Amino acid sequence: MIRATSFKGKSVAVFGLGASGLAAAEALRDGGAIVAAWDDGVAAREAAIARDIPLTDLSVADWAGYAALVLAPGVPLTHPLPHWTVKRARENAVEIIGDIEIFARERALHAPGAPFIAITGTNGKSTTTALITHILRHAGLDAQMGGNIGRPILTLDGPEPGRFHVIEMSSFQIDLTPTLAPTIGVMLNVTADHLDRHGTIDDYAAIKERIVAGADIAAVGIDDDFGLAMLRRRVPAGPAIAFSAEKSLAPGYSLLDDTIVCANREGLAVKLGSLKGIPTLRGRHNGQNALAAVAAVRECLNALGHSTDLDWQGALSSFPGLPHRMEEIGRIGKVLFVNDSKATNADSTEKALLSFPREVYWILGGKPKAGGIESLAPYFERITKAYLIGEATDEFAQTLDGKVPFVRSGTLDEAVWAASTDAQMSDGDEPVVLLSPACASYDQFRNFEVRGESFRGLVASLPGIVMRAAP
Ligand code: ADP
Repeated sequence: MIRATSFKGKSVAVFGLGASGLAAAEALRDGGAIVAAWDDGVAAREAAIARDIPLTDLSVADWAGYAALVLAPGVPLTHPLPHWTVKRARENAVEIIGDIEIFARERALHAPGAPFIAITGTNGKSTTTALITHILRHAGLDAQMGGNIGRPILTLDGPEPGRFHVIEMSSFQIDLTPTLAPTIGVMLNVTADHLDRHGTIDDYAAIKERIVAGADIAAVGIDDDFGLAMLRRRVPAGPAIAFSAEKSLAPGYSLLDDTIVCANREGLAVKLGSLKGIPTLRGRHNGQNALAAVAAVRECLNALGHSTDLDWQGALSSFPGLPHRMEEIGRIGKVLFVNDSKATNADSTEKALLSFPREVYWILGGKPKAGGIESLAPYFERITKAYLIGEATDEFAQTLDGKVPFVRSGTLDEAVWAASTDAQMSDGDEPVVLLSPACASYDQFRNFEVRGESFRGLVASLPGIVMRAAP
């Protein structure tokens, strides 16, 4: 738990009392600030009372005396409309920050050189953050992981020399971190997402670029035009390293077949490790994530004067992966069961279909997104049969009609049973029963995690199944 001493003796408003808001309020209180916490929800306020966090109804409070408003990242700062607390803060010239800003100030005050790796991008943030943490720990180093993944940052151990903070950041969190200056800022990729909260894609990319602009060293994925432009702007301004899963870079990190290679300007290259056969790093998209992770760790160790002579291969090969993202959960004979419940849109499911070239028994459906699965037509030949569940059934049946054999399974348990039975009758080398729904889960499940757990439970009860331990 980090104590936020940078606001000692000052009054601070905290709005949004989920896990990170509660942690921020506690960190401020324990660091000597006068906390005025609030949430519109009664349950959240009760959680605060249970943790001795002082509440103030911010809708009727006098804002003139607050040194800052600490806002939860889920509360709109700009789009679609600024939240009422944001308006009140602005009217009273109160700065608006998030919990990662509090961490950044503590680090600047007490341990400015403490290694801090911040990761953003539209896709792959969690995988990359988890892999960076895994590589550091595999090398016996103290790595604290949090932010947009796992634990709120202020619940981690505090920054100090030799302790690495590996922090996943959404655009909303970057927006709330004005002094963001990590040792390494990792920018994976930019595609249209969350535009409801950022206006245009240019605004969204500009927010993400702050992780590059503020970093001691920027590690930038250049497989999209936004990343390439960010690198070009950064290079004259400070140290930067590029990575690409598509092109061979010198200088930079790239993939040579499945091997991660780092080349210098003269083209002199070192091979760092191969991704071949690592089930948790399947697919080109995970190639990008692995490049980012290796680049971030290696450049960080270099900057700190540490040896970079790690067992890279051992670290990559032992990565346990993250649940619900192309997670291999078990086998019946040669039939592989894969839980990709996190794939809540067609773009994510595309990554899964790209990773399995043939004989896919595909379970999909749920609450459909705009555009449905039309964009996945180029991969339909990989599918032996589709099993439709949830609200999307009629729409997806129309898209698949005449192109892919399908059944209307309705529920996940029906689908698992039917797909498993069909796959076991296949005479292919490695038939795959793949849950990659390309839909939100809310019509039948509380969230994608519950959907994935439910899939795991159903698969675990199939006769003859050999399960793989959960990561
Ligand atoms: P995030 O934390 O950014 O949501 P995750 O690591 O949780 O990313 O991965 C979520 C999904 O995004 C994966 O299941 C996969 O479909 C897709 N994905 C992961 N990495 C990438 C990448 N580098 N590029 C494109 N898509 C990716």
